Formats: sequence, C-alpha cells, structure tokens
Amino acid sequence: MELITILNHCHRHRGFVYQQARFGPDKKSIEVDIRPREGSAAVCSGCQQPAPGYDHLPQRSFEFIPLWGFLVFLLYRMRRVDCRNCGVVVEQVPWSDGKHQLTRTYMLFLARWARQLSWKETAEAFHTSWDQVRDAVEYVVGWGLEHRTLESIRAIGVDEIQYAKGHKYLTLVYQIDPGLTRLLWVGKERTLESFQGFFTVIGEQLAAQIEFVCSDMWQPYLDVIRQKCSQALHILDRFHVVAKMNKALDEVRAAESRKMAQEGHPPLLKKSRWCVLKRKQNLTAQQKFRLRHLLRYNLQTVRAYLLKEDFQQFWEYTSPTWAGLFLDFWCYQTLRSRIEPMKKIARTLRAHRTLLLNYFKARKQFSSGVIEGLNNKAKVTMRRSYGFRTFPILELALYHSLGKLPEPELTHEFF
Ligand SMILES: [Zn+2]
Repeated sequence: MELITILNHCHRHRGFVYQQARFGPDKKSIEVDIRPREGSAAVCSGCQQPAPGYDHLPQRSFEFIPLWGFLVFLLYRMRRVDCRNCGVVVEQVPWSDGKHQLTRTYMLFLARWARQLSWKETAEAFHTSWDQVRDAVEYVVGWGLEHRTLESIRAIGVDEIQYAKGHKYLTLVYQIDPGLTRLLWVGKERTLESFQGFFTVIGEQLAAQIEFVCSDMWQPYLDVIRQKCSQALHILDRFHVVAKMNKALDEVRAAESRKMAQEGHPPLLKKSRWCVLKRKQNLTAQQKFRLRHLLRYNLQTVRAYLLKEDFQQFWEYTSPTWAGLFLDFWCYQTLRSRIEPMKKIARTLRAHRTLLLNYFKARKQFSSGVIEGLNNKAKVTMRRSYGFRTFPILELALYHSLGKLPEPELTHEFF
C-alpha cells in the first residue's frame, strides 16, 4: 500500500491530487506533492467563487499529522486567480486556512490533545513548538466561537477568578442549565464594564430570556444583573457564601494564632487551619482528633468555627420563610459575638437577605454545585497553562477546555 493511497482515504480534497511521496532531505520527514486536478479551476479566497488562474506562487509547505516518527509536509504551489470581484488574489485551498503553516486537520488534532495535556506537553509529544500549539488552539476556538449557538440560555452563573499575583481577576460567565453547562464568556477584570461585555455579546433579546442568574456578592456584578437581567431571579450562590465565610474564619484563626504566639501562650492553633476550614466529613482521623481537642478551649477561633458550622443548616431549609427566620437569628447571634470578621459577614448577609432567600425559590431548578465544579475546572486549566498567564492565553485555554465549542468536521477520524 502506498502513502498516497492512505492520504486519499483520510484526507482527500476535490480538485486536488497527491502526486508523490518521498523522504525530505534530512530523511526525518516525509514530503508529499500536491497539484491541482486537471481541469479544475482555482477558488478565489475573497469570494469563494471559481476564478481563472493568474500565476503561481513559490512552493509552500503545510504540516500534516506526523506518522511513525516522521514529520509530514504537504508541498503545494498556491495559484493566484484573477477574480472578477476581488482582483488578483491567492486561491483558497481546503486543507489550510491560508494563515497557518499547519493544515486544518493537524491543528484540530493538536488542539484535541491540548485539552488533555498542557500545551507544553502537547508540543513535546508531537515534536512541534508551543507557538504552533497555541495557533492550533486559537484556530479551533475561533472556529467554535463563530459556529456555536447561544439560543435558549435559561440560567447563567457569573464567577470571578484570580489569575496572577497582584489581584488580577477574570470574570467568567457560565451557562448552568440542567441540560447544558458550559463557559460562555471570559472578561478581563471584574468590573461593571467586563461583565457588561457579556451582555453586549449575547444581545438584549437573549438576555431577556434568562430566568436565573447566580452570582457572588461582588457589587459590580449585582449592579449589572439588576440593570441587564431585571426579569431574572437573582440567586446568591451557596459556593460563594461558604467561601466568604471560610475566609472570615481563616482571618480570625490567623490573627488569634499570632496573638497567642506574641503573648507566649502554647501554640494551640498550630496546624488547625484545615481542621476548621474543611467540612467535617472530609477531615482525616488526625484532623478530627485535633479538632476535638481544640473545641475544648474558649477561643475566638472556636466560637467562629461553631457559627460557621451552625450556618450549614441554612442550606437545608426548603421554605424561604423558615430559612429567612434562621438567617435573621444567625445574624443576630453573630453580631453579638464580638468577632469582627464574622460580624462583617453577618452584616453582608443581612444586606443581601432577599437574594440569599432566592436560593430557596430556585433550588429545584439546578444543582448548586455546578458553579463550584466549573470554578474548579477553570482553576485546573489555569494551573496547566502555568508560565503563560497573560489574558489572551488564559482566555483561549478557558474557552478551549470549558466552552464545549463545536469543532470543524473531518471526513476521517484521526486518533
Ligand atoms: Zn473573488
């Protein structure tokens, strides 16, 4: 069987024929000549219409999926056409987008791997460069964003995520419908403008159809939701409230631990961080033991911990009325605790009472763990692209791994 036969099976293009295959000069690559099929006209890259030939450009090489340890290049002399509409322009060829050295097929192939591995690992595995992998992902993501459908979005969640030291944030907007969860939008910063950008992309008509919006308590997000999605039920997401409470508890613990060390007390709070922050059922045996020991002391940390644990009950309610009574009582108690970070939380929760109780009005509609799951996936993606934490790169990587974007279709499946 000849290489040409295989290529004709997996990568055939009307109007073109593979002529011959041979080793490249270094014997480490395979080169395959392509020429136009006899009598088939070139297609203008401006208007996609057949047009009379004008001249030929010098030979170009297009990289294809490597085979058995050899890089594979398709060699072709692009024609220029004299188009009635567009003038003298280069032809359009089906295997390339004209901008990249890699064939479309190879870009799709690399991009799929770049979802499993880091971009660096992908480049190493296929003996190509990081830049080529980035180009491949950029092509596939660009295609996907152009071809995705945004109709019938019922529920969205907005989330912020830190991506570099020095408080650099991204705004992520997810679709969180029961049948479809995906990343819809990545915005630079976490400002009014960045979240408004999402609504500019989807347009007023789609925004008017949104029934549920989940967010944290970040004021610019609350403002944009009120302004753009006033018809939707706005829910403060459980995940974000729990995260905020854990942060407050951690502040209490750190401050108290420092104070005890300064005053020469025994280091009771040493190694207590995860004992108090983790959910009880996730503690190791040793952590459980340490926690039980800790609970015997009358420490601010212990009191804050008990308040946090007590608050878990809030989420178990089904009736908004009862949940509201619980919330009021919890805030009343906490405001008398003389633990400033916890008091601050209580004031915040009180101020957002209505939005918090919306959680119970909507809870049957979608799972509250959805945003947490997406947030974790986003963090994994960011960690994988470590070393290239610039906004455009992260934006690409996030769309690629969380966007569930459609892909260009191939007639043959390359695996
Ligand atoms: Zn044209």
